[in-house]
This record gives sequence, C-alpha cells and structure tokens, in this order.
Amino acid sequence: MYLKSLEISGFKSFAKKAILNFTSPISSIVGPNGSGKSNVAEAFRFVLGEQSIKSMRGKRGEDLIFNGGGEGGARVNRASVKVVFDNGRKILNIDFDEVVLERVVHRDNSNEYFVNGSPVRLKDIVELLAHAHIGASGHHIISQGEADRILNANIRERREMIEDALGLKIYQYKKTESQRKLEKTEENMKSVESLRREIAPHLKFLKKQVEKVEKVQQLREELRAFYKEYFKREEVHIKSERADIEAVKNPLMKELEELDKEIAEARKILESSKNRDAKSDELISIESVLHRVRLEKDAIMRDLGKIEGEMGAAHRTLYKEKEKQAREESKTVYLKDVEDVVSKASLLESISEIKNLLLSFISLHKRREDSINAEETEKELESLRVKKARLEDSLKKIDEHEREKTLDYNSLRQKIEKEKDSNRDAEKNVFKIIARQNELRGALGGVKSREDKVILEEEAFKRELQEGYVLVGRECMDYKDLAVSDEPRFEQYDRFKSIEKIKIRIEDSGTGSGMEIIKEHKEVEERDDFLARELTDLETSRQSLNNLMAELDARIDVEFKEGILKINSQFQEFFSLMFGGGSASLNVIREKKRKKKSDTDLSAVLSEDEGEVFEEEEGEEGIEINVNLPRKKVKGLMMLSGGERALTSIALLFAVSQVNPPPFIILDETDAALDEANSRKYGDMIANLSKYSQLILITHNRETMSRAGVLYGVTMGSDGASKLLSIQFEEAVRVAK
Ligand code: ATP
Repeated sequence: MYLKSLEISGFKSFAKKAILNFTSPISSIVGPNGSGKSNVAEAFRFVLGEQSIKSMRGKRGEDLIFNGGGEGGARVNRASVKVVFDNGRKILNIDFDEVVLERVVHRDNSNEYFVNGSPVRLKDIVELLAHAHIGASGHHIISQGEADRILNANIRERREMIEDALGLKIYQYKKTESQRKLEKTEENMKSVESLRREIAPHLKFLKKQVEKVEKVQQLREELRAFYKEYFKREEVHIKSERADIEAVKNPLMKELEELDKEIAEARKILESSKNRDAKSDELISIESVLHRVRLEKDAIMRDLGKIEGEMGAAHRTLYKEKEKQAREESKTVYLKDVEDVVSKASLLESISEIKNLLLSFISLHKRREDSINAEETEKELESLRVKKARLEDSLKKIDEHEREKTLDYNSLRQKIEKEKDSNRDAEKNVFKIIARQNELRGALGGVKSREDKVILEEEAFKRELQEGYVLVGRECMDYKDLAVSDEPRFEQYDRFKSIEKIKIRIEDSGTGSGMEIIKEHKEVEERDDFLARELTDLETSRQSLNNLMAELDARIDVEFKEGILKINSQFQEFFSLMFGGGSASLNVIREKKRKKKSDTDLSAVLSEDEGEVFEEEEGEEGIEINVNLPRKKVKGLMMLSGGERALTSIALLFAVSQVNPPPFIILDETDAALDEANSRKYGDMIANLSKYSQLILITHNRETMSRAGVLYGVTMGSDGASKLLSIQFEEAVRVAK
C-alpha cells in the first residue's frame, strides 16, 4: 500500500484537524448529504497540486478555507492538507521511505508546498507525482457526477486522460519541459545571434584597425632595425669625424700657436727698430764731436809745429851761442859759488827747476853780453818747451778723446748696421708667418666647417635618438653592440631617407601606439568567440532537445499504442462483464477538419461549384470510443442511458486502471446510478481492482461499503464543521442513510 494517511485542517468544511488512515486496500467514506465527504476527495486534489479552484467547487482560493459555520464554528485563516505516502518501493523519486506532501493556502490566496516539511515549488510536487503516475489530470480521482467524464470529453481530452493514466504524462511533462527549454534555447540563440550581429561591425572595424596597428607594428619593427643601424653608424661616424678633425686641427693649432709666438718675436724686433733713429742721432752727435775734436787737434798740431819751428830757431841761436861759450870753457868758477848753487839746488824738487838754477849759475859766470843773449834764448826756448809740453799734453788728451769717440762711433754704427739687417729678416719673417698663418687659418676654417657640420650632425643624432625612443621605445637604444661593416657615407643618407619614409607612414596611419585598440579588439573578439561558443552550445542543446523530444514523441507513440491495445482488451472484458456481452473499444483517430479554401485555390474551383468551397485538413489526434451494446441495434455513446453511460465509463476506468494501476483511486459516488445487480458486479470489479491500486470510495452504496476494510463516517456538526469517525460496517450503513 502506498497511501498511508490524509490529514485535513481548515480545508473547506473540515474546520479542525481530521486524520484518515488508509490501512486497508479499500477504504470507504460514508455520511449524509452535505456532511463533507466530497471535500475529502477535493482535499486529495488540493494536496496533489490541483490549480483549478473550480474543480474543487470554489471561485476563489479563499473558498477552500473553512469559512465558519453555525454555532461556534469560527472561520480559520489557513487550510492545510497533508498526504502521507509509504515510499518504501520508491514510487516517488525521492530518497525517503515516507513522503509527506503538504499544501497550505492562505486567505490572501498564497499557497505553500512542502515535501517532508521543506518548502518546495508546485513544479517539484507535479514532477514528483508524475513519476508515480499520479497525474494532474486527476484520472484517478473521479469526482461526484463525473463518472462519465471520459465519455463526455472530446477526443483530445480523452487522449490526455489515457496518456495520463498510462503514465505517459511524465514523458509529456518532459516534452513540455524540453519544449520550454527549446523555446528558451532558441530565444537565447536569437539574442546571442543578435548580440553577435551587434558586435560584428565593431569587430570588423576593430579588426581593420588591428591590421593597421599590426602593420604599424611591423613598420616600427623595421624602423627599429633601421634606427639601430643608423644610430650605430652615426655614432661611429661622429666619433671618427671628431678624431679626424682633432688629428688635423691639433697640429694646425700647434703650428699657429708657434707662429703666434714667432710673429710676436718678429714684431718685437720690428718694434725695436724705432730705437734706431735715436741711435742715428747719437751717431751724428758723435760725428760732430769727432769733427770738433779733430779741428781742435789740427789747431794743436799747428801750434805745436809753430812752437817746434820756434824752438828750432832758438836751438840754432843757442847752438851758436854754445859755440861761443865752448870757447870760453876754461873759465874758472869760485867754489863758494858752486856750493851756493848746490845748496840752492838741494832745496829744489823739480829737475827742470834744478836745471834752470844751474843754467842761470852758468850764465852768471859767462861773459856778460854773451850770457845775456844765451840766457834770453834759453828762456824763450824754455817757454817754448813748456808750451810744447802743454800742447803735447793736450794733443795726447785729444787723441785719446778722438780714439774713444771713434770707437763709440764705430761700435754704434756697427750696431745700427746690424739692427738694420735683423729688421729686414724680421720683416721678411713676419710676412712669411702671416702667409703661413693665413694658410693655416684657411685650413682651420675648413676644419671648423667640418666641426660645425659634426656639431649639427650630433645635434640631429640626439634629436633622432629622442624621436626614436618615442616612436619605437628604448629598444632602439640597444645599438651599442651592433657590428657594422664599412660603407660609403651616402648609404647612411639613404638609410635616413628610409627612416623618414617609415616615420611618415606611421604618422599617416594615425593609430597611435594601438595598445588600446589591440586590447579592445581582443576583448571584443573574446566576447564574440564566447558568444560563438555559446551559440554552438545552444545549437548542441537545441539538437539534443529536439532529439529528446523526438525520442519522447516516439516513446509516447509506442507506449500509447501499446497501452491502447492493452486497455482495449481489458475494456472489452469489463464491458461484456457489465453488460453481459457487446463490444467496446478505443480507437486512435485523427480528427478531420473542414477548412475554407484559400482565394487562389478558390478561383480554380469556382466554375465547378458556386457555393462555399472547403478542403479537409488533418486535425488533432485523439481517442474515439466505440460501444456496441448486446441485444441492441443502436450504436454509439449518444444512445446510452445514464446507467449505461456510468457502466461504460466504469468499465473503461477499470480497464485503464488495470493496465497501468495508479497507487490509489478515489471514486466519489461513481456507483450512484447502479442498480443492485450492477452494484454487485461493480463490487466484484472493485475487489479485483484493489489488488493493484488502493481504493478510497465515497459511497452511499451498501454493496460498495461491504467491500471496504476501513470505513470512515463523516457528519456535519451544528458548528457547520465536518466530523470524522472510524466506524464499523453496520454503523456505516446507518450513517450513510
Ligand atoms: P453529498 O452526499 O450530498 O454529495 P457531501 O457529503 O459530499 O454531500 P460535501 O459536498 O463534501 O458533502 O460538503 C459540502 C458542505 O461543505 C456544504 O455543506 C458546504 O457548506 C460545506 N463547505 C464547503 N466549503 C466550505 C467552506 N469553505 N467553509 C465551510 N463550509 C464549507
């Protein structure tokens, strides 16, 4: 047994908690009209997730809650129904041996569902029950007056009921679920596709930009290579130029320095030539001095010659006198006179004075007349001698003076001559130096322009380095270790031109560093890839959903057809049992629908038929019930009496229930229309059916009651609330009346 108990609290007429334990395969609920029996069946519908309030005889959710009654029957705010299943055989797909489903409805119309006390969604309840063939169509709960519902239903509804009864609802449910998922998937696919479409132009644009950026990166790479070699060569060139210039310039400068010194020296010499005039003046003055000295010397010579002449005359006179005197030589002189002279002489210092003393002594002793002449001549001679000595002295002095002046003159003259020579040399030298200096300056001018050029080249090099750094990053600075072979300089100019061309191309591209674009492109591409993958995933799941649905369809189709075959055999059996013969069967049919022809088709057929033109089209697949009563010629459901309808539907219900027995069946006064004979047959069938499904029978039928193992009596109290009590068969018979 699967159904253990039902607990009703606040639901419809059950104001207070009432518990029904289903300990027997057949339980009967009996009681007077309006006591609340059908509310028990509705409590089952309610707790199993019924959404139609109408099917529970209400208009609003509130109608399901005990609304108060007569004396003391105060209304409550919530209705709750719990059903307890024995899940030992896992009819419900949940890992509990006992499963309690509970549903609560509040006055604000809100519902709560619980499985073993945990809140769940309605969907979970429906899914759980579908697994146990307890479908929402409620094929196993036959409400009062609904015994022939399956007969009244249209072919599609019948098909649904049969599917539900055959346990195909779980597949239908899965199919609906798959359909829903499929729709969701397709919706997602559409939105993913539209996202991709939205992204596409931007991605295309970014791709182009990235291509440009990559091109620029390639150009930068090229530029980097060019730069490296260019920088290396430029550095080598500038270095060697500088070295060359130094090598040329240094000796030139040195020579120029030397020449500066030399020219200064020469100029000094030339400067000194200004002193030469002073020297010439001096020479002239010496010349005039010499001239004067010579004139003076000539005068002295003349005077001396005159004196010598005079002295010759005197000497001759004196000679004549001496001749006379020699003749007077034997003349005697007194001693006393001699001594006197000697004493006088001893007092004299100068020889000439002594001489003069002696001469005057001698003349004193000569003859008077003669001696006077000699004396005078002597005196004259003496004076001439003195004069001569004086002149000779002057001459000596003047000679000395002349010699000195002549020496001065000669030396000065020599000096002047010499200076004149060196001046000429200096002048010559200055010209030579100036010429050389000009030559050197010319050469230095060449060097200077080379130097200026190198400076400009160096500045340009520095600028290029900076520009290179900005354009291609610091990598272009790693040129130091680059090995370069010799080449003509013009190749470096060509290289520079190439660099300039690449620079222009990079500038024209206008993409900047491009890092942003690459990043954005990467992001958008990743997003697009992600969307593409998602689309593939969605496509895969669409495929598998379609497959699953096709599989489910196939399965439903197969199981449905098999089920119909099985049901038919049971139906035939129950039917002939009930009616003592006849035949009954279910047929799967496809409804034919008449549809007005479309205008285009219409023109073609108008000539044939002037009336309205219809065409038949395949409609829905459903179930047709064919019955053939024994001993009666009329066929079809329409021709059956109320009792016959009830019997037919019971036969079908039982047939279905036997093919795929639900865990329990609730029949609310299904037996109401049966006469005694049929009630017995009904009772037999119930007994048989209870081997497969638990039965809860709401009945007034004594025969039916007699088959029940458990009997519950329901009565309505003065408070308007239903009361439940477990009773015995006899009491039940009494209660039911
Ligand atoms: P019968 O034998 O005539 O079919 P029954 O025993 O099946 O009768 P029910 O139809 O189950 O009786 O019960 C109907 C009773 O329940 C009515 O008297 C009705 O007033 C009462 N009822 C229904 N809904 C509520 C409610 N929300 N609050 C109070 N009473 C209610």
